[in-house]
Amino acid sequence: MQPVTRFAPSPTGRLHLGHAYSALLAHDLARDQGGAFLLRIEDIDPGRSRPEHIDAIIRDLLWLGLQWDGEIVYQSERLPLYAEALEILKVGRLVYPCFCTRNEIAAEIAASAAAPHGPEGPSYPGTCRRLPEMERERLIEEKTHAWRLDVKAALRALAAPVECARQEERDAPAVPDPFRPLSWHDSNAGTVIARPALFGDVVIARKDASASYHLAVTVDDAAQGVTDIVRGLDLFGSTHVHRLLQALLGLATPAYHHHRLLVDAEGRRLAKRHGAPALADLRAAGADPRDLVESLRRGQMPAGYSVSNG
Ligand code: GLU
Repeated sequence: MQPVTRFAPSPTGRLHLGHAYSALLAHDLARDQGGAFLLRIEDIDPGRSRPEHIDAIIRDLLWLGLQWDGEIVYQSERLPLYAEALEILKVGRLVYPCFCTRNEIAAEIAASAAAPHGPEGPSYPGTCRRLPEMERERLIEEKTHAWRLDVKAALRALAAPVECARQEERDAPAVPDPFRPLSWHDSNAGTVIARPALFGDVVIARKDASASYHLAVTVDDAAQGVTDIVRGLDLFGSTHVHRLLQALLGLATPAYHHHRLLVDAEGRRLAKRHGAPALADLRAAGADPRDLVESLRRGQMPAGYSVSNG
């Protein structure tokens, strides 16, 4: 099977060298095997997405010589697809409405010594999961709300059909989830056991958007037939959640290639606030895109930049 990869930037700022590196890896993985390289604009964050950044992304990729296949896909045009997926999760009672504000969540975490912590910091303390049904129904009419994944309910739901799949399993005692792990294959990390519970009840649909990053990216990668997901190690943690969503929604699991990140001389991930030059700045300064792409391909980073170790 020929690989299908994608570059999926959020148009919330200008692309920098780190983006170029990621797009190039995705592009080459597909092209080296005669596969397809797709471009998807992840523009569902109404507060942060800007049309001028979309134009700039397109200009930057063309400047680099990274041509994508087919039409550009815009997540903002695919909201009904995410709503459908959310509906499946609602029907399965695998999500619940969350009425908490950021401040309320922070206050609850600060007040509780036993607040759950995941690899990416404190996770949602589960306040709205514990609301009585009547209260939930009342609030849903009155307040704006997000939808959160009930991770424990989701893992239980997945265990059930597996337990009944074969006669000998039906006779056997229920097997707890850790013995039936979800996993994915990562070209760098090997087989990774998905541990979505570590991240708590993540947001699946935001108050201000009908999907969260987690839901939209999982639905789209499957709908677009992406076979190989090439993205930075900063998104490795999210894959635990995406793997669970794939299982719940009956979607295929692609192979993953979480690559190391470009860092500056101080070892910091590239970001505008640290003064990382945008690709547009390099272009304006007369940089040769072919030289740039060839050095990135050879793993030679421009002066002052390197690839992180971990
Ligand atoms: N839109 C995400 C970002 O710009 C990347 C999504 C992904 O590659 O899964 O960080």
